[in-house]
Amino acid sequence: MTDIKQVIRAEKPVFLGGENPFEAMMSRFDYAAQVLKLEPGLYKVLRNPEKTITVSVPIMMDSGEVEVFTGYRVLYNTSRGPGKGGIRFDKNVTMDEVTALAAWMAWKCAVVNIPFGGAKGGVVCDPLSMSVSELERLTRRYTAGIINVLGPDSDVPAPDVNTNERVMAWVMDTYSMHKGHTVTAVVTGKPVEMGGSLGRREATGRGVMIVACEALKHLGMQVNGARVAVQGFGNVGSVGADLMQKAGFTIVAVSDVKGGIYNAKGLDIQDVLEWRTKNRYLENYPKAEAISNEQLLAIDCDVLVPAALENVLTAENAGDVKAKVIIEGANGPTAASADEILEKKGVFVVPDILANAGGVTVSYFEWVQDRGGYFWDEETVNSRLQQIMEHSFKDVLDVSKKYNVNMRIASYILAIDRVAKVHRLRGMYA
Ligand code: NAD
Repeated sequence: MTDIKQVIRAEKPVFLGGENPFEAMMSRFDYAAQVLKLEPGLYKVLRNPEKTITVSVPIMMDSGEVEVFTGYRVLYNTSRGPGKGGIRFDKNVTMDEVTALAAWMAWKCAVVNIPFGGAKGGVVCDPLSMSVSELERLTRRYTAGIINVLGPDSDVPAPDVNTNERVMAWVMDTYSMHKGHTVTAVVTGKPVEMGGSLGRREATGRGVMIVACEALKHLGMQVNGARVAVQGFGNVGSVGADLMQKAGFTIVAVSDVKGGIYNAKGLDIQDVLEWRTKNRYLENYPKAEAISNEQLLAIDCDVLVPAALENVLTAENAGDVKAKVIIEGANGPTAASADEILEKKGVFVVPDILANAGGVTVSYFEWVQDRGGYFWDEETVNSRLQQIMEHSFKDVLDVSKKYNVNMRIASYILAIDRVAKVHRLRGMYA
């Protein structure tokens, strides 16, 4: 049997655990909506998901027994374009979480001004205990269950927690079988051989590097030699650290689920990557000191990049942060309760819906390439990503100056304003 780890992304952090995710996110939304003086009708529209779907997903297990799983898909807002958002397989998936993540996608796509709405999906299951063929049947039956909302013009999924390129290939194949012809643009994050985009894998880390450079430029700080600590050494953290080092930053600390490593003179990220490839974890890396994840967050550095989990910066530890700049590679790494503490300390926070939007931006490029049937080289992908990230940073900064608010609230204001404008232009049909 194929090794299950080739199919799912084991050890993916389950984020948004704990507090009610929808309300946590909406507290920032409410603040921004007040600053914008959003009219009550539109406020109500934007606080409610457009469409929520729950499906039963019966599949034949390898044992011959039928098991029934529950799947969700939420289209939060599609006024600006088709729904866009990942599918996660996890034991802890709830409708509340999927709804929060779908709303988050709506704001993220609006911040970087790509023509997508926000969506998200999930299936409640324990993928680590399932075989590859069970996962394939689960993916195909879930896809069939939501097939009426899927489509390049209506709803375009992507990978998320515990799903990957392989799962996207099954979604694309199932959808195409039902349509009677190949439809590559129905999902993004596909293998490059079947319509995926060059540069997609590195896109989120690259976006993190680009906004970090922009933030330092804005603050009048030098990129060369600026000291960086990165929590999480997975897709976002390791690519981000590597590209930041190449851009001139000095990466003093990185960490994974087992803990971190620190070298005041700077780590050689290529060497650390080789160590991780051979040893899977960072622990025992010889050319650095071992530190805990908690110590990493409070380390003496200029830039902190939380790129692992949600809610790692809280009211308890935000006061210990020494970095002057935080670039949120992860989704939701800062609890709402820590926002004010960081602001009082004068920490410049580039929020997740801007900082990690490089991934969805290149997903958009993938969709464009699939629809045009014309594929770009990696340089074109990277330079267009750079342009979008730089413009978006400037857009958010301009809003933050105009309303005298921090970058997080500014990014929500920008997003809500863009979505609200389209609603007004289209009319309510109410
Ligand atoms: P990943 O699974 O590739 O990597 C996660 C990393 O975090 C691993 O190094 C893991 O060891 C580490 N980790 C797990 N638990 C930890 C803990 N308790 N303390 C410290 N480190 C821990 O995941 P990823 O794709 O890099 O995603 C990371 C974050 O970025 C998530 O919040 C994800 O939602 C967000 N994000 C990812 C993308 C993308 O394109 N991959 C896009 C937008 C946002």
